Amino acid sequence: MIIAVDGSAGSGKSTVAKLIASELDYLYIDTGAMYRAVTFTWLKIQELVPNFNFKDKLIPDKEIRRKILSEILGKHHEKALDLICQTISISFENSDSGIKTFINDIDVSDYIRSTLVTQNVSHVASYKEVRDYLVSEQRKIAEGTNIIMDGRDIGTVVFPNANLKIFLTASVEVRAKRRMQDLSNYGEETSFEEICAQLKRRDHLDSTREESPLTKAEDAVEIDTDGLSIVEVKDKILSFIN
Ligand code: C5P
Repeated sequence: MIIAVDGSAGSGKSTVAKLIASELDYLYIDTGAMYRAVTFTWLKIQELVPNFNFKDKLIPDKEIRRKILSEILGKHHEKALDLICQTISISFENSDSGIKTFINDIDVSDYIRSTLVTQNVSHVASYKEVRDYLVSEQRKIAEGTNIIMDGRDIGTVVFPNANLKIFLTASVEVRAKRRMQDLSNYGEETSFEEICAQLKRRDHLDSTREESPLTKAEDAVEIDTDGLSIVEVKDKILSFIN
């Protein structure tokens, strides 16, 4: 059984999908974390991430690191990102403090949620090379297992034949309040206005890009989560499953 949950940033996808996964004992995959992991590596290779000392472990081969950087400097980002995708391995692990994201066994869970990564991820996610690689990884992960996967293109591109497709929406103000809470959990303070502006920018990039733009699949059930609690959204989705 495959459940696809799509929607814009802050629409509540991951919180609800995690709850459903634990209630049904399904595997949960946050595909946004995969796009963030690629973005983080791309930024780190350019020395744009402070306070992270594991660059050599993200891409241990010095020659490949040099090649990626030279492609970036030559503005061949598609080639650099292609090389990054071929080189890194992204994995997830359950822990007491939630689901952790690893690049080559290095825990990058907190780093991939930083504002710097958030500001760059929609750009990186617009490259066909990145999407082709991650979509094929996502399909491999789902083979032979019950899974709930959230993202932007799960019901339209990754699993067009998913058993259930959900499309979550919410107003920008409600989404910004949720995002502020997430960020303060990671120790970052950003103003409400700044978060609204970032969300609108990301919505625009995600829904107007050429490759797999954010859009509701024709057969998806749309749920407006404004004014609904997480539990209410979860129960609504469970009622469709049942
Ligand atoms: O879900 P989250 O906000 O963490 O996703 C980060 C970004 O990754 C999105 O804004 C989007 O640009 C990209 N993304 C995507 N396709 C997915 C999941 C995420 O393009 N399936």
